[in-house]
Amino acid sequence: MDYRKKFAVERGSKLRLSKIDASYTGKHETHEKALPEIQAHVERMDKLQYLLFADANQSLLVVFQALDAAGKDGVIRHVFSGMNPQGTFVYGFKQPSKYEAAHDFLWRAHLRTPGKGEVVVFNRSYYEDVLVVRVHKLVPNAVWSKRYDLINDFETMLSQNGTTILKFYLHISPEEQLSRFKQRLDDPSRRWKISESDYSERELWPEYMAAYEDAMTLTSTKHAPWYIIPANHKWFRNLAVSQIVADALDEMGLKLPPTRVDLADIRRKYHAAQREGAE
Ligand code: AMP
Ligand code: MG
Repeated sequence: MDYRKKFAVERGSKLRLSKIDASYTGKHETHEKALPEIQAHVERMDKLQYLLFADANQSLLVVFQALDAAGKDGVIRHVFSGMNPQGTFVYGFKQPSKYEAAHDFLWRAHLRTPGKGEVVVFNRSYYEDVLVVRVHKLVPNAVWSKRYDLINDFETMLSQNGTTILKFYLHISPEEQLSRFKQRLDDPSRRWKISESDYSERELWPEYMAAYEDAMTLTSTKHAPWYIIPANHKWFRNLAVSQIVADALDEMGLKLPPTRVDLADIRRKYHAAQREGAE
């Protein structure tokens, strides 16, 4: 199954997130059975990142958006852990600082976009400026509603500069979210993640869904597609995301750069003594 085809959002389409099954696992039945496939994708990602870094001509930007407890941290930890920390960066976007808020909404994200050869993962992103900002009316309608076009222009520019962009929405059901909050309460090592606003935000679920539906249908493009990943099952989320990222890297046509030296000459000049010594 090609999850890029299956989960991609079509621009301008009518999207109803409540109609999409967050518990979908396709033909895969259990984590155990899916594990070899997940590992194979993660290994592919690792190998391709090595080529991306060596080639240093293109870059990859991966955006994760989702409601609380949908698994943004988890997918980053599980799927990107194989990549070399040299050349891989993760940035989380929280409420803007005073300094950040004094600039345009794309400014702080643009500072973090990948340079050539780099992979950058955004844990939340400039999309918060048409999501939480819209739901909580932090700026007037006339301001946020113009941001979809600005985002499309921004992503077009990044793409023309050699950046492949992948955007993932991790889709969980309200019931699954509540059960994950409960698990966090019960697990002393994860209590630190809970805030009261996690619960109060749940009351705005329909407003968030409407904001996500608009954001994704208005900004899913060929060069910066949105994927809706069924994420009630963490292992299926990891499987789908790792396959999509590995396939996208595969299509970038990455190659090792050509050797910059005359091998025979270098061997003769600097390794002759070593060879003689060995003989
Ligand atoms: P977390 O990712 O759960 O640690 O929380 C980060 C919080 O920052 C979330 O509640 C986001 O909605 C919020 N946030 C991120 N970006 C923005 C933004 N541009 N404006 C307002 N709140 C934001
Ligand atoms: Mg949170």
